[in-house]
Amino acid sequence: MLKMKPNCEHCDLDLPNDSSDAMICSYECTFCADCVSDVLENVCPNCGGGFKKRPTRPTKEWRDGVSASHQPPSDERFLKPVDLEAHLKFASKIKNISPRNR
Ligand SMILES: [Zn+2]
Ligand SMILES: [Zn+2]
Repeated sequence: MLKMKPNCEHCDLDLPNDSSDAMICSYECTFCADCVSDVLENVCPNCGGGFKKRPTRPTKEWRDGVSASHQPPSDERFLKPVDLEAHLKFASKIKNISPRNR
């Protein structure tokens, strides 16, 4: 189950459950869409993987015991701005490899 982290790890933008800007890697490192495209070049600074849009957890209980009120999104903010120079170096080797082949 995803934690659904509440903010962008780099710029601290709020990324609530219904945000269209929340992007995650396979480890659920969480960034906003602008940071993924403009800063990270679709390379996760923590694992080197690519990003996809985070799904929204249903707020309505369509199935018994399953909804955003039963399994609430995390309210634990995590902030670790990337070192831009170090990331450029890291990403330069990785960004041209398709995320499916990394
Ligand atoms: Zn951001
Ligand atoms: Zn990652």
